[in-house]
Amino acid sequence: MNEAKIGRRDWLKLGGLGGAAALLGGTAKAAEDGKGEVRGIVFLVSDGMSQGVLTMAEDFSRLVREKGTRWWELIGDPASTSGLMECSSADSYVTDSAAAASAWGGGVKVNNGAINIRPDGSESTPILRHLKKLGRRTGLVTTATVTHATPAGFAAVTAKRDDEHLIAPQYLGVVDLIMGGGKNFFAAEKRVDFADALTPYSKAGYEVLHDRDALLKSKSDKVLGLFSGSHIPHEVDRMNNPEVKAKVPSLSEMSEVALKNLLGHPEKFLLQIEGARIDHAAHANDIAGLLWDQLAFDDAVAKVLEMTAGRNDILVIVTSDHGNANPGLNGTGKGYKGTNKVFKTITGVTCSYEKLFEEWGRSKENTPERLSAMIKQRLGFSLSEKENAALFASITTGEISEWSKQQANTYGLLGQFAGNHTGIGWAGTSHTSDPTMISAIGPQSERFSGIVPNHEVHRHFMELLG
Ligand SMILES: [Zn+2]
Repeated sequence: MNEAKIGRRDWLKLGGLGGAAALLGGTAKAAEDGKGEVRGIVFLVSDGMSQGVLTMAEDFSRLVREKGTRWWELIGDPASTSGLMECSSADSYVTDSAAAASAWGGGVKVNNGAINIRPDGSESTPILRHLKKLGRRTGLVTTATVTHATPAGFAAVTAKRDDEHLIAPQYLGVVDLIMGGGKNFFAAEKRVDFADALTPYSKAGYEVLHDRDALLKSKSDKVLGLFSGSHIPHEVDRMNNPEVKAKVPSLSEMSEVALKNLLGHPEKFLLQIEGARIDHAAHANDIAGLLWDQLAFDDAVAKVLEMTAGRNDILVIVTSDHGNANPGLNGTGKGYKGTNKVFKTITGVTCSYEKLFEEWGRSKENTPERLSAMIKQRLGFSLSEKENAALFASITTGEISEWSKQQANTYGLLGQFAGNHTGIGWAGTSHTSDPTMISAIGPQSERFSGIVPNHEVHRHFMELLG
């Protein structure tokens, strides 16, 4: 136990050192033991993060920013607990994000694709609806559309996760702080039913925000921040485009505004923060996209831990909802001595695969030569003639000669070709059944050690904040 673990108010109340000695046997000690009272929970999700990402992100972080990751440091902190999250859904060993978030949010395993609708068709009540009725404060922060499966599992009910226009109105009066992408599901002109889903929020006292500056200045207790039509761009694209970077906040910035607001009120709270695009990069076998998004997620973890350091009443949980494509760094060369060199190639990538193909699609004069030049310029390595021809054929004619059905698509092919230069191998292009890492620190953190079935998380939320 040290002074840093004692809240400033506790310190003053107890009269400095003498009081601190008493506190060691009291609340703070209990918090250190993982058993104290919880005033707020911050639940951070790296969506679709396979276990191998932890070490790759750690090594990549040291290469590009000369420091390790905060999550890695947290796992090594004796005050934290670690466990494995069991992630299956009601109808598959492999969950999707809708079923995983419904398990956390609704306390029941549901079929893939459903948001808080049980296999028998009945509804389960999402955690933020329960908590709002009890007067708690609530927040959802994400780099996906705010109506995407992971935030939705905490606050919405719908049979199909893709009905995001049906999810958009459901946060009204349930979620105080909503931040992420997804303007297209609120603005009348973009919605499938042309109904205005923004005005009801502003009428109910929400500050509706669309850019970074407005968010950083915001002091509102109710915020609907929509910073992109669809998802927020991959971090590698955000950071390499000054215009986008000026307009779109980082996950860490959104998290800071939300948590500052929640900490500034006396009510108990639950804040979910999702690094969503790790999952999308994994589906695309895009290692640079994935690692930069994981580092952006890690910045949010670092910010939350910095803001809650010295307190004994905030439980911070860091986890993932499922593995995805299980990327791994393969030993390369004799005695694996070429491994570090090929891994370093990833630092030269300046855009996501999503962006690469978006740019490719904008030109009408696409040739194999242009594809080869774009890959060299944006990804920093050259495809062999054969690889380039195969990739070009997959894009232009859909023709793919590939034995693995998982990787028989343009992204799967490029992922494998890139692996010849980066050392990264992929198990496929879809989610996996692996358990995910769960780390926790703060009061009651011991609940999240050992094997944690995903639907049990809801019970803990209710017991701690209900
Ligand atoms: Zn996914």
